[in-house]
Amino acid sequence: MYKGVWQQVLGEIELSVSHASFSTWFKQTELTELDENLAVIEVPNIFTKRQLEVKFNDLIKQTLDKSGAQPAKITYAIKKTSSRPVINREVTADDLISARGSSKGPEKANVSQDNRNESGLNPRYTFDSFIVGSNSDLAYAASQSVAANPGSKYNPLFIYGGVGLGKTHLIQAIGNEIIKNNPAMKVLYTTSEAFMSDFLNHIRYKTKGFATKYRSVDVLIVDDMQFIEGKEKTQIEFFHTFNDLHQANKQIIISSDRPPKDIPTLTERLRSRFEWGMPIDIQLPDFETRSAIIQAKAGLSGVTIADDVVAYLAEAIKTNVRELEGALNQLLAYAEMRGVEPDLTLAEGLLQNVRHTRPRHLTAKQVVDKTARYFQLSVTELCSPKRDKHIVVPRQIAMYLLRSELHLSFPLIAGELGRKDHTTAIHSVEKIERSMKLDQEMRNQVSDLRERLYG
Ligand code: ADP
Ligand code: MG
Repeated sequence: MYKGVWQQVLGEIELSVSHASFSTWFKQTELTELDENLAVIEVPNIFTKRQLEVKFNDLIKQTLDKSGAQPAKITYAIKKTSSRPVINREVTADDLISARGSSKGPEKANVSQDNRNESGLNPRYTFDSFIVGSNSDLAYAASQSVAANPGSKYNPLFIYGGVGLGKTHLIQAIGNEIIKNNPAMKVLYTTSEAFMSDFLNHIRYKTKGFATKYRSVDVLIVDDMQFIEGKEKTQIEFFHTFNDLHQANKQIIISSDRPPKDIPTLTERLRSRFEWGMPIDIQLPDFETRSAIIQAKAGLSGVTIADDVVAYLAEAIKTNVRELEGALNQLLAYAEMRGVEPDLTLAEGLLQNVRHTRPRHLTAKQVVDKTARYFQLSVTELCSPKRDKHIVVPRQIAMYLLRSELHLSFPLIAGELGRKDHTTAIHSVEKIERSMKLDQEMRNQVSDLRERLYG
């Protein structure tokens, strides 16, 4: 139904997104209803539905409008027939290369290629290949706004969040997008550490060109700003660089693993500068977002993997997109090597191996002991009825670990910590899960402690 219209729309969309995005999110869609009130687009699964809703809805709307159909509303419906895993042979190496951002018109390509090389940007990091979820939608929207109008609204743009959650990807995507649209703009990507070592060389060896390098750009992107902590001279230098650029309405983009207020020994005036543009966080991705990321990455490799495998991986790896990518790549490599499909059995086998490199017999008692020791409490205190905060939080963390590492039932968890009521255990586990989402410190503590459980 409506095949002609949809083909035309898809044809246009294909021109404005990467091949990988197109084949992952658009290829298997159909337009099944269309009038002035409503367009219904059928999609193969929930992940596609989400991506089209959050990321491509505007594009689809505009393109549909252009084609003459102007539905007031678009909805996305999941197709009834379940999709079988298919190895998608249609994607070629050329697709992959161009998906990485190197296919441009010849003229433009030269200028922007030069600018790219000087910019320090990796062309792999684009908006197109970034999957937006509710954990990152604000950061993504702000980044897009900066890319569209550098130096105006969010200046500086300050993005913070845990390791492997896409900060570098997103801030580089801004730079790549700006160069794509304005090849003449000077964009510089650096890390706070590279900035510092450049600065120190400049002082020690009187190297030339330091100020020009950082102050003559239109867009300065500094990654991992937290490392500037405690480096007073570098902070002063960066403060002046910042002011110079900001006064000239140049765009400044910063990432950090935590918000400015949590970077100790950041001078007050630099902290207040960083907070001018409203710091925005990227949180842990939820299950749907993790699933969408897996699908998209598989799509980049030209492979479609079955929904149950996607769900399995998304459930197994929760806190770091880089690790999620790693597990997927391992699965795909293994499947290819053996000439089999990347199915659930294979995925389970592989992740099992990963798990088995850890000691198999972690006991509940060990979890309680090690948690107590980690927080410098005695086991008796940890399991006592005391309600002091410095005991309550470790107790909740112990319950969380009993759940996440040993999959104990709630009554058993309560029992291990000297509690009669299993609802206490439920609340504790939920509370820690929630605060891990919001609080970097909590994430660090728990992952640190988890390492020690197995260490
Ligand atoms: P961070 O800088 O926050 O530590 P990175 O930006 O280096 O994290 O991301 C780690 C890896 O995960 C990169 O390969 C990146 O492309 C990928 N990644 C992270 N978040 C996303 C996302 N939302 N969509 C697609 N890829 C992502
Ligand atoms: Mg990074």
